[in-house]
Amino acid sequence: MQLSRRAALAGTAAVALSPLAGRAAQAAQALSGQQAPAYYRFKVGDLEVTAINDGFASRPLDGFIKNASLDDVKAVLGAAFLPTDKMTIPFTTLVVNTGQKLVLIDSGNGNTGAPTTGTWMTNFKAAGFDPANVDAVIISHFHGDHINGLRLKDGTEVFPKAELMVPATEWAFWMSDDKMNAAPEGMKPAFANVRRVFGPKAKDVTQFQWGKEPITGITALDAHGHTPGHTAFAVASGTGKLLVMSDTTNNPVLFARKPEWTAVFDMDGEEAIKSRRKMLDMAATDRMQVSFYHAAFPATGHIAKDGTGFQMVPMSFQAAL
Ligand SMILES: [Zn+2]
Repeated sequence: MQLSRRAALAGTAAVALSPLAGRAAQAAQALSGQQAPAYYRFKVGDLEVTAINDGFASRPLDGFIKNASLDDVKAVLGAAFLPTDKMTIPFTTLVVNTGQKLVLIDSGNGNTGAPTTGTWMTNFKAAGFDPANVDAVIISHFHGDHINGLRLKDGTEVFPKAELMVPATEWAFWMSDDKMNAAPEGMKPAFANVRRVFGPKAKDVTQFQWGKEPITGITALDAHGHTPGHTAFAVASGTGKLLVMSDTTNNPVLFARKPEWTAVFDMDGEEAIKSRRKMLDMAATDRMQVSFYHAAFPATGHIAKDGTGFQMVPMSFQAAL
């Protein structure tokens, strides 16, 4: 229950008439007004995975989905008990400690995102990690919310000793001057941002192919469409397996239920839909644990078939690893 200031004051007046008059009417502890540190750990076989939240962004619903009516979008949000006047997009990256290496999958918004983002480093440190100890960062694709955590606005490198590992197809697209020159004006800042983030280390960046393991136990999977080189990952150890969906969906509340919808961020809508259906179907059929970049924290769970679409079933909290 929430107490309004007026109700709290009314309560004080009532107390003044009671034998308890004079006792504190307010808790000694002020309301926090802040969410708790958002990190969450789970095991995949012998690997230890930690989800790290980087806040969220809100955007108008209008125009977010290119091929659905506003009423249909609101209906799906309402059915999930979410606000129907805006779209909430959370950001959650993964840390994988393989025992040999500390590896990140994507890096968050750094200090470039909406004011409700930028909690990544606080949460990362709260989870006991030090950016100086990161051995490798594997990137799913080159949108700013996935790469800007690598380098602050002032140029500071955030993970100085980390090897940067990127999908070869994604690198070929964004680092091509021909593609940049041919891109519509609205996309040119995204090309410039890729050069800002990777430029100073371009010759040291490691490119990987789909089907290969940039890090032992982490296989890159072709999930193109959202961007030309958009990549999902299968993290495997022993019998444990995690399918890292990256942006195969934006918030799965919408796009697991309606895989045929395409978000404004999907660069090739048709290909994005194909990848989405393929990955969701694989997760459901094989009953694999999944993690999404844009699901509600801790952004991990399973995928169940549901009519013509799917539903994400969030993981139950595990108090022990
Ligand atoms: Zn994204």
